[in-house]
Amino acid sequence: MSAAAAFAAEPATPAAPRLVYVKAARLLDPKSGTVLPDQVITIEGDHVKAVSALAATTLPADAHVIDLGNATVLPGLIDCHTHVTSQPENFYEDLFRKSPIDEATTSHLYARRTLLAGFTTIRNVGAGNYVDFALRRAIEKGEVAGPRMQASGPALSATGGHGDLNGMSPYVRFEGDINGVADGVDAVRKKVRENIKYGADVIKMLATAGVLSEEESVGAPQYQLDEMKAIVEEAALWGRKVAAHAHGAEGIKMAIKAGVASVEHSSFIDDEGIKLALEHGTYLVFDIYNDDYILAEYSRLGYPDKIIEKERKVGRTQRENFARAVKAGCKMAYGTDSGVYPHGWNGKQFFHMVKWGMTPMQAIQAATVNAADLLGWQTKVGQIAPGFYADLIAVKGDPLADVTVLEKVDFVMKGGEVYRDRLAGQPVKQFE
Ligand SMILES: [Zn+2]
Repeated sequence: MSAAAAFAAEPATPAAPRLVYVKAARLLDPKSGTVLPDQVITIEGDHVKAVSALAATTLPADAHVIDLGNATVLPGLIDCHTHVTSQPENFYEDLFRKSPIDEATTSHLYARRTLLAGFTTIRNVGAGNYVDFALRRAIEKGEVAGPRMQASGPALSATGGHGDLNGMSPYVRFEGDINGVADGVDAVRKKVRENIKYGADVIKMLATAGVLSEEESVGAPQYQLDEMKAIVEEAALWGRKVAAHAHGAEGIKMAIKAGVASVEHSSFIDDEGIKLALEHGTYLVFDIYNDDYILAEYSRLGYPDKIIEKERKVGRTQRENFARAVKAGCKMAYGTDSGVYPHGWNGKQFFHMVKWGMTPMQAIQAATVNAADLLGWQTKVGQIAPGFYADLIAVKGDPLADVTVLEKVDFVMKGGEVYRDRLAGQPVKQFE
């Protein structure tokens, strides 16, 4: 057979992907802040093709229909602050008896739990040794189940800062450890470039001290303003945004002035900080659930008293400041610091956000449209609309009446594939 004949034998165009129709009696649209009754979501491949009223839609006789009954359907949720590669088991054992290989071996389990909890997208802000890049690669290739991911690699930290290993003998070293410690304008620029070289979608900077480390303060600034500015400028040159971990009022203001896209934790933000965030359009990502878990469990996990004492200083004040920021109208995105508590519990923060001043719809918007905007993925995720990824979830009950129904997600679709279904009896995606 001639080459021409061989090509002629190939089908001219591949068959169009089969359409899938999802029937939703209640479709929550975070963009408009409304719930639409009796809708049909038409899905083609991994994207939404159309959303239409059931009464106005003609389904083909052989249509593949997924009927989600009376469940509430909403866009897949987004957690903007995760550490999906790890989970604490024991402070000293995690440090001294495990290696990055342990982390790499188990991280896919955490990614899967996160996805099955209805979080179809995450922004992972801080992982050592580029384990997050490897995990993201495996998810993108469809080898393991997990959410879409933006990953930062190691968080930039000053020497002796929140991202360094402190409180040890100066002779303790971890051979080959790839971390984010860098000091001075030139070195932080280089560290940003290095992270991007190996796969960073976003840059994480530790602007202040933190809770889960052994340095002294909770919130003191740990970079100079010129270092923070260099990090933001360098990241921007490569088309990346910066997420700044910041607890203390001063460090929060410095990070906002340096031009970060989001301030994480924001625990001790003051009036001036709130005003600056409003002026600069900076997102605030308050992780206001994990305090409960840390105070209940971290003594048992062998964490030094010093660290638990620091958490006591943060907990309630952070929640009060969350309420102030909501009242002031700051831009807020949902982020939980998962990995500080068990993965898959990401939905537990909704309750606290509503308790501390948001309406359920605002909390859902923080975890969908706002989060997508922060990630720069506002045309891809966070809505069920034509052209968006077919990432959707369903829950029994009404999340606008009781937001805790989002802690138990019964249906999860990501990119048109069903990963969990307790409602419509669909086969779920298998990994073999
Ligand atoms: Zn964190």
